[in-house]
Amino acid sequence: MRVNRIVVKLGGTIILLFLVILLPLGFVMNQIITGFYYNQVQKEIGKLASRYADAIASNRDAMTVGMIEMMSAYSDVKLVITDVEGRVIANSGIAWIGEELRIAEAERKLLEQGRSVQIEMEDTSSDERFIAIGQPVINQNQYYGSVFVFSSVSGMDESLQKVRQLLILSSIGAFFLALGFTFIVSKKLSEPLIQMENATRRISKGDLDVRVRIPSDDEVGSLAKAVNDLAVDLQRYRDTRREFLANVSHELRTPMTHLEGYAKVLKEELYETEEEKRKYLDIIYQESVRLSHLIYDLFELSKMEEGKISLQMESTDLSDLIINVIRKIEPKASGKGLKIRMELPDDLPLVYVDGLRMEQVFFNLLDNAIRYTEQGSIWVQVIHSAACELITVIEDTGVGIPAHELPYIFERFYRVEKSRSREYGGTGLGLAIVKQLVELQGGAIQVFSEIGKGTRFEIILPVGGDARETD
Ligand code: ADP
Repeated sequence: MRVNRIVVKLGGTIILLFLVILLPLGFVMNQIITGFYYNQVQKEIGKLASRYADAIASNRDAMTVGMIEMMSAYSDVKLVITDVEGRVIANSGIAWIGEELRIAEAERKLLEQGRSVQIEMEDTSSDERFIAIGQPVINQNQYYGSVFVFSSVSGMDESLQKVRQLLILSSIGAFFLALGFTFIVSKKLSEPLIQMENATRRISKGDLDVRVRIPSDDEVGSLAKAVNDLAVDLQRYRDTRREFLANVSHELRTPMTHLEGYAKVLKEELYETEEEKRKYLDIIYQESVRLSHLIYDLFELSKMEEGKISLQMESTDLSDLIINVIRKIEPKASGKGLKIRMELPDDLPLVYVDGLRMEQVFFNLLDNAIRYTEQGSIWVQVIHSAACELITVIEDTGVGIPAHELPYIFERFYRVEKSRSREYGGTGLGLAIVKQLVELQGGAIQVFSEIGKGTRFEIILPVGGDARETD
């Protein structure tokens, strides 16, 4: 069986805490209780001893001594009265003392000086322990002997022993109770963790449908939520990857089928005229160009998504860049009878971008604008907005994009009209690349369109930007 480490660790900590706290606490409590009991007894017998000593000092006759002896015989405490020499002249029940009370010389001296003493004695025959307070009998500075009041402490020792046993028993009880409680708490703590461990192992093996129960609204709960989020993210990633692979193979299959088919026709000389042959060769050429575009775009996009493209960021004049792109693409527009008009303010601030990549962005957008516009014009405009941004607008009077399709046009392989896009030679990757490039350079892109009227793309770039070289 696997050892539950949390139970062991928590249990160990509790045991250690118990030992560290309970042992000194028990010791201190024992001292306090014992001290309290002894003090009480000492006070009581001390008071009696001094009262008896006073009584005898004022009436030093045999009758008084006898009376006191008799009184104490009926009480719990015992009395011994000695003369100056220490000989016992009255004893109310401590027979084992004999005729002389033997005490240490120092204590005898103290008594002679008028001071009280405390002694401890033991009846060797019964092992009974006594404490006694001795009080000197003094009258007019004359020492006449001492009064000793004895109290047995065996009873008290027994009671103390019982209290100690009770203390130990309740400590052991509390200890086992705490241990049981620790076991339950740690089981409760470790159970969801074990569940999460199993879930993550299953996730790592590809079972992404697995979810863990969120046990509570604390750190363990947020860990469980994070595990679930991870599974959802991986599931989404797996679905996107599957969809992407399906799209790629579909996109590759179409030109490949064309290439294969027309190459076969040419190889087996299944054409009738030279013109037909040229037509097939033309198709083969176009499809191979298309294929290489597709492969290039895919490669670019995957590099961007992995953050592997290097950008040469520098302060750039957007007007120069746009004029350059328009010069390159103008022949294509005029080939379709379209005019490109531009409005570029004179004192535009610089933007911090990768010039070549930004050209690629504008080229793609203008290329689309020309491709999806049959008549009218294309309008390029840069606006210096109050919010320290440059907004580049590329607007056409083309076919437009239906409103419900607008949110998806930046997705890979998304085409508004599949057949039309193919017919225009698009790969469905252009806008995905544009969006990635703009965002990598700290900008944003948005689109507005109305079907049949035209489409307007806006690229927003921060003025100045970050002066750091990004690669
Ligand atoms: P493609 O290479 O197929 O043009 P894009 O990613 O560049 O792929 O564009 C995605 C889709 O968005 C295109 O299929 C097209 O239908 C639509 N589109 C893009 N630009 C325009 C535009 N200026 N006017 C109308 N439709 C456009």
